Amino acid sequence: MAKLSSLRVVIVGVGLIGGSLARALKDAGVTREIVGMSRGRESLDRALELGVIDRAELAPGAVGTADIVVFATPVRAMPDVMRAFAPHLGTQTVLTDVGSVKKFVCEAAERCLGQARTRFVASHPIAGTEHSGVEASFASLFENRSVILTPGEGADAGAVEVVESMWRLTGARVLRMSPERHDELLAATSHLPHMVAYALVNCLAKHPQSEELFRLAAGGFYDFTRIASSDPVMWRDIGLTNTGPLVQAMKTFRNELDAVIRALEAGDEARLQEEFANAKRARDQGLARKNGSQ
Ligand code: NAP
Repeated sequence: MAKLSSLRVVIVGVGLIGGSLARALKDAGVTREIVGMSRGRESLDRALELGVIDRAELAPGAVGTADIVVFATPVRAMPDVMRAFAPHLGTQTVLTDVGSVKKFVCEAAERCLGQARTRFVASHPIAGTEHSGVEASFASLFENRSVILTPGEGADAGAVEVVESMWRLTGARVLRMSPERHDELLAATSHLPHMVAYALVNCLAKHPQSEELFRLAAGGFYDFTRIASSDPVMWRDIGLTNTGPLVQAMKTFRNELDAVIRALEAGDEARLQEEFANAKRARDQGLARKNGSQ
């Protein structure tokens, strides 16, 4: 595994994920300088005030040679950001991202990064919260969490090692898979639940007595829909860049919901109980296995 030290790391998009990565790498003591970049000054000034970054720049040309560049913007902003960076990258600079969709980002890197594309190693930390922005960032976000790398076939082996070592320094465990498999799995485990949470909240929000409903709703409703407080731009981008697998997962979910509707309308006691018992067993076992593997 590559030993990292005295790095100049550029984080493009110093929000929840970019800011948390900056903090974790600082804590690991491997950085010489963390340069933050964004489309506007405000979030960068706040990141400087909080000590999350050491320097703020608005133009890729002003950054200087970086050891690692991390794209941490919403997914659909990445192609333009990559294109803007491409002419300013050093010949040894390693690049990665944190986007929640991988096929779209990998294809963008192929198109937009020129010669540097072989040193791009896509990654996705399976960690986050419903909060956004640098204020919400914290150094331990990635501890004991998984990070999925989806390096392309032509990826530089040294670059893959650097990105893997970087994530291990944050306390994460790293696994690899193809971008397609990543997108299919995450559509089911992350993207679908977000769509369901947004739809469920909208069900109540559009109700004529919505104010009363929200007041009366119990903890279970707010637990279930916590993720509907996530950033709408980020989730718009995820939906629009992983449409095929996401729509497929949503249709499967709709079939499950239809089956419950049919059982309710038919008063099918046994079917309902079986459906709920299966779900309880699957969730309990899944959680136990997950906790056991940590
Ligand atoms: P965030 O807190 O909203 O931060 C996004 C950052 O990107 C902000 O600093 C924003 O800067 C900057 N930005 C937005 N558009 C930009 C552009 N066109 N050019 C340059 N900078 C731009 O979002 P986040 O939660 O950290 O998410 C960032 C990425 O991580 C997304 O790709 C998301 O899919 C992925 N991700 C998120 C989670 C999660 O739970 N949140 C988990 C895993 C992966 P300004 O404030 O200046 O606009």
